[in-house]
Amino acid sequence: MTDTDTIFGKIARGDIPADIVYEDDEVVAFRDLNPQAPTHVLIIPRKPIPTLNDATEEDAPLIGKLLLAAARLAKEFGFAEDGYRTVVNCNANGGQTVYHLHVHLIGGRPLQWPPG
Ligand code: 5GP
Repeated sequence: MTDTDTIFGKIARGDIPADIVYEDDEVVAFRDLNPQAPTHVLIIPRKPIPTLNDATEEDAPLIGKLLLAAARLAKEFGFAEDGYRTVVNCNANGGQTVYHLHVHLIGGRPLQWPPG
């Protein structure tokens, strides 16, 4: 196991189960185990980038794909027009707990801002 071999890496490889809602050769999206709204999905790159701080210029298209997957899924879940939130937590103060870059897609109810 390396530093970058997190639970999300295992989900991306199919080594542990998850409720996967979308996957392709670069991106996997699955339901959060502890949902904060009626729909709460995590969208990850298969590439194990630990945090947003570790992303490079080379990763720009991949990060774009994470956000575009979020928008597509929001449409599929039927809340794109009502609205939703995408969040990337970074490191301790950002509340990151799993060190494999991920975008939270949260929707299905009105969300407070600021989140606290
Ligand atoms: P973070 O706090 O790092 O931005 O978000 C990590 C998210 O991963 C949390 O919302 C947490 O509920 C979710 N999570 C942690 N472990 C697992 C797991 O094993 N499976 C799934 N589906 N979600 C997980």
